Amino acid sequence: MAERTEVESSLRELLRPEGFKDYGPNGLQVEGGREVRHIASGVTASLAFIDAAIAAGADTLLVHHGLFWRGQDGSLTGWLRQRVARLLAHDINLFAYHLPLDAHAELGNNAQLGLRLGLAADARFGEQDLGFIGAAGALASPELLRAALEQALQRAPLLVPGDGRPLRRIAWCTGGAQGYFEAAIAAGADAFVTGEISEPQAHLARETGVAFVACGHHASERFGAPAVAAHLAAKFGLRHQFIEIGNPA
Ligand SMILES: [Zn+2]
Repeated sequence: MAERTEVESSLRELLRPEGFKDYGPNGLQVEGGREVRHIASGVTASLAFIDAAIAAGADTLLVHHGLFWRGQDGSLTGWLRQRVARLLAHDINLFAYHLPLDAHAELGNNAQLGLRLGLAADARFGEQDLGFIGAAGALASPELLRAALEQALQRAPLLVPGDGRPLRRIAWCTGGAQGYFEAAIAAGADAFVTGEISEPQAHLARETGVAFVACGHHASERFGAPAVAAHLAAKFGLRHQFIEIGNPA
């Protein structure tokens, strides 16, 4: 068992949210009970995730995509009211960490995806240094990279091959980081992996020769929250489970 405030300060120390300009509040988004015994981690605080966590007996949730984002008008209505009402009714704490959870050098989404591909970053690139880049190692071709992603994520990635060059440097950034493609190219990548693709990236891949792989926003961000929650569980002797709510995007 841990006090909520201990968990909160431990997360703050680990993820250092004050160092990021983000699209929403990082930290405790909804306050629940004072004691933490059972954490459920997940990608997104969707209603399905909240309900599954309640059914599992969790008292505290840790997610990558929380409830509050820049651009919302602040009204607690509709779907947002439903999610918040469920949390309050069950006295559940909701912790959400967005960019700090992508960026953490060992437990974050990028580091954890790299781990599963056999990739380690030796440099960072892009806005707020969120992009990871490192030696391609055994993933020496776009096809090998695509196959490794399919194996790691159990989902068929979308590959836009480049000019057929062997891969020496691979850059990656989980989630919706397709806008980082040009920064990845400038940083010396032979291939770039992220969750999503938009229309311009296919042309950029063809014209620059740098391969682009979109492996799914959700699929690419499944590993950071459970890694951080497992760290907390070990530190405080808590129960932890990751709850997967599938998402085709
Ligand atoms: Zn995301």
